[in-house]
Amino acid sequence: MAGPLFFQSGAGCPIIGAVSKTSLPPLFKRLPRNPQERVLDGKRNLKDLTHSEMEEFFLEIGEPRYRAKQVLQWIYNRGVHEFEEMTDLSKKLRAKLADCAVVPTLQLRRVSESESQDTKKYLFDLPQGGEVESVQMRYPDEMGAGRVAVCISSQVGCAMGCNFCASGVMGLKRHLSTWEIVEQVTRIQKDLTPQGERVANVVFMGLGEPLHNYDEVLRAVRILNSPDGLGIGMRHLTISTSGLVPQIQQLSNEGIPLRLAISLHAVRDDLRSQMMPVNRRWNLESLMSACAEYYQKTKRRVTFEYILLSGVNDSREEAEELAELLNRHEIHSLVNLIPWNPVDGVPYERSTPQAIRTFQTTVAKSGIKCTVRQEKGADIDAACGQLRLRDLKERQV
Ligand code: SAH
Ligand code: SF4
Repeated sequence: MAGPLFFQSGAGCPIIGAVSKTSLPPLFKRLPRNPQERVLDGKRNLKDLTHSEMEEFFLEIGEPRYRAKQVLQWIYNRGVHEFEEMTDLSKKLRAKLADCAVVPTLQLRRVSESESQDTKKYLFDLPQGGEVESVQMRYPDEMGAGRVAVCISSQVGCAMGCNFCASGVMGLKRHLSTWEIVEQVTRIQKDLTPQGERVANVVFMGLGEPLHNYDEVLRAVRILNSPDGLGIGMRHLTISTSGLVPQIQQLSNEGIPLRLAISLHAVRDDLRSQMMPVNRRWNLESLMSACAEYYQKTKRRVTFEYILLSGVNDSREEAEELAELLNRHEIHSLVNLIPWNPVDGVPYERSTPQAIRTFQTTVAKSGIKCTVRQEKGADIDAACGQLRLRDLKERQV
């Protein structure tokens, strides 16, 4: 079926402008923009502070700077949330901190594990309302036993309105703040520690468009990367985006070697604009130029995600056009083909195994590495936005 238009109008996106006559842009919760505003229940939220902000906080309350390092290590290395347990701080300081600060944690609502036990999906309640989901995926042993990849969310829902995606169908409820992003990883790490396993890779491929929540996502990246935070190397952190060109350009200039993944899904502007309203604002040519700039500045290979939809975007000609597009822009690329996970009410069909193979070999023939994403956790709906959608439906019954 060519270009189904279910939810073509999207949720109404404040970035790409009005794409729908029927739906209004959702209201965004204003995020705290400076450390003083990062409070929860009237107390300073220490989980929402970067290392330097935490140092400022200790100076403000009349303590030396180095307290920040001590407290960060308690929080991230030992997973401690109660000041009372931070035994290398004096009793007086612990009481003072309990009066003016808080180290919050996310409440786990549901966890589901795939039959193969290599994928686990977590649904967390957010203290200020809403919920968020994350997925934990184990590597096969040959890639490093005990190493786990975690897929996290950056928003509750998503404003981008892609017509094949459960998050797009939901619309945006709100941005997540720094600590709500980092805490997804911290909570999963806590689950892994007793088995001697550790989070080795983090991908922003859960709910939401990470570059739409740029500042909070970048702060979270810095905390995840910090040696006093979770110590995950920048090269092991991946941001996936539907293609917000100005933010990709901004990211190129941050001077950090993050991995960038682009959700491409189509090589012709008319089809991409139908599937992904963001393309009406920034077309393929401008997206490719931004990716080329990202590659030139960071020297990081760029991954292009491509969902294969039967009869929509999976022809041999489109595989050739894809290779031509990437080669013409001289981007060192990896193409990752994704079998589509069906979303209730969305009338696409996944491509046949034969069409997937043909597409893969056609791209690979042009010298571009092309992989097919291994399906993990299909039995627990471990696809973008699906657990939360199912949970919401169950509660509506
Ligand atoms: N908003 C970002 C990151 C979250 S989506 C982005 O779009 O890149 C993460 C990936 O899941 C994207 O490549 C997205 O296109 C893909 N995706 C969305 N819905 C899917 C579905 N139903 N089946 C398979 N992949 C899907
Ligand atoms: Fe948002 Fe990404 Fe889903 Fe598009 S694919 S609606 S950008 S989460």
